[in-house]
Amino acid sequence: MRLAMRWRLALPQALAVTLALAIFGRFTIMQAERAQLAAYRERLLAEAALACSVLGERGGEPQQQALQALAIAHGQALQARLTVIAPDGRVLADSAADPATMENHAGREEVQLAQRLGQGVAVRLSATLGQRMLYAAIRCDALGGSTVRVAQPLTAMQQALGQLERAVVVGALGATVLVVLASFLAAARISQPLQRLATWVRTGQQGSAATSLPAGTYEEVRTLARALDSMAAELNSRVRSLAEEQNRLQAVLAHLSDGVLITDAQGRIVLYNPVAIRLLGLPPAPDGLSLPEALAHPELIGTWERVHRDGGEQEAIVELPSRPAFLRLIVTSLGSAGLPGELVVIQDLTQIRRLETVRRDFISNISHELRTPLASLKALVETLQDGALDDPPAAQGFLQRMAIEVDALTQMVQELLELSRIESGQVPLRLESVPLAELVREPVERLLPQVQRAGLSLSLHLPGSDVRVLADPERVRQVLINILHNAIKFTPAGSITVSAEAQGDEAIITVADTGIGIPAADLPRIFERFYKADRSRASGGTGLGLAIAKHIVQAHGGRIWAESQEGSGSKFSFTLPLAVGPATGQADTAA
Ligand code: ADP
Repeated sequence: MRLAMRWRLALPQALAVTLALAIFGRFTIMQAERAQLAAYRERLLAEAALACSVLGERGGEPQQQALQALAIAHGQALQARLTVIAPDGRVLADSAADPATMENHAGREEVQLAQRLGQGVAVRLSATLGQRMLYAAIRCDALGGSTVRVAQPLTAMQQALGQLERAVVVGALGATVLVVLASFLAAARISQPLQRLATWVRTGQQGSAATSLPAGTYEEVRTLARALDSMAAELNSRVRSLAEEQNRLQAVLAHLSDGVLITDAQGRIVLYNPVAIRLLGLPPAPDGLSLPEALAHPELIGTWERVHRDGGEQEAIVELPSRPAFLRLIVTSLGSAGLPGELVVIQDLTQIRRLETVRRDFISNISHELRTPLASLKALVETLQDGALDDPPAAQGFLQRMAIEVDALTQMVQELLELSRIESGQVPLRLESVPLAELVREPVERLLPQVQRAGLSLSLHLPGSDVRVLADPERVRQVLINILHNAIKFTPAGSITVSAEAQGDEAIITVADTGIGIPAADLPRIFERFYKADRSRASGGTGLGLAIAKHIVQAHGGRIWAESQEGSGSKFSFTLPLAVGPATGQADTAA
């Protein structure tokens, strides 16, 4: 049972006081009883002696009747019972009863004592009167050695003692009540400030516990309040530093490029960063979610479960089919750090995988590109060795074809070199402000003869001379030539449209043709080195033109892209930064 503090203090005190008073009261009453009895005894003995001398004055042994009458008279005078008992125990006279009906009194304790020692006293229930009586007897030599006995009931004394007892009980009860009240008040004085302290702790601890206590509070309670104050301060500073620590951890997690996630002993997610959510496709706030239930991928779940069961570390590389992505999952048990749960690190390998594919393709492409001219060179050399040298006109023809192949090889090597130099940033751009119209017109005009030879028509839409771009003219010309070359090459019949204009703070240049178009699957890859959309119909090119164009445009801070519908033509666009001010007007020129 839980008792309030005031009860705990008051109850023992009340008990102690009651017990002390009970013992004290009992002792007092006993003492009083003893004193009263002694006084009584003395008085009755004196009265017996008096009766003896009065009765004995008559001399000799008086008549039984006379003695009886005397006894009654003296008994009344003494307000006591007076009995005279012969030495043999016969009752000679009695003031309260008829001696003839009374039994022999020789066996009575006080009578025996009186006969033997001269006087005797006893307290006993009187068989004759049915009351507790005090008997005092003496041997009365004046009456021939008979015993004179005076007896008085103890009721009066008992009544007086009863009153005393009642007074003691009432006093004790009163004292107990007073003590309980006093200790209750004292306890309240102690417990009130304590309760105030408790309220202070419960209600968020504003201000100081020590100063919120009323004046006059016990020093011990004040000391407690001061201790609480310093504990609260300590706690606050710890909570603050924990929060800081937490914020730092969050900041680190938020800026990690890898996904990080921690699960607890039950497999619930307790810590995560945004990258983990994105890579694993988890709901936005997965706190408390069970990881195996939140993950859709069986292999990811399996890896986590193995570590969860056996501890240690496991790694898995999986491809998510839902959104093409390669992930590496490293699950480590935190058991070695003395913590329950697992640490899951998720790395996105998609980009690395893509670069690996590009590099593999690049090597296979370059070998393929080199093999064709080298094979035809080898064939031509062998033909010459096999005797064609003896036929000068034929040899001449072979040599010419060899020169063409060597030129193609040289061109490819040059383009590769060029590309790698642009890529590595070794060729600085010579940027200048040039009129956009002029920049576009010049390469178009240079390729015009080829357009005409291919039987295509070409239209050109150019802005006014006030639209200027910030560009390296030589490089941009090369971009346009590469794109135009393709347009001519991949358009069997139809037209090519070149246009340039200012849009917002950039210039946009487009080359559209009505040619064979590019399959949708190839479209995202045509800007890669050596990439050709359809190898079977590949027309002599190296597959490097668009890669070079892309790098030049990006070096200018622009973008390049292609749109196409297979069978109905392609449209290549790129942007360049404008040199000054917004664009105005657009002049059309048709060729
Ligand atoms: P190539 O030397 O083969 O022309 P490019 O990098 O210039 O190399 O072009 C890559 C591939 O893109 C070409 O092989 C072709 O399949 C496709 N392509 C480029 N331009 C066009 C176009 N205008 N029409 C159709 N296909 C094109």
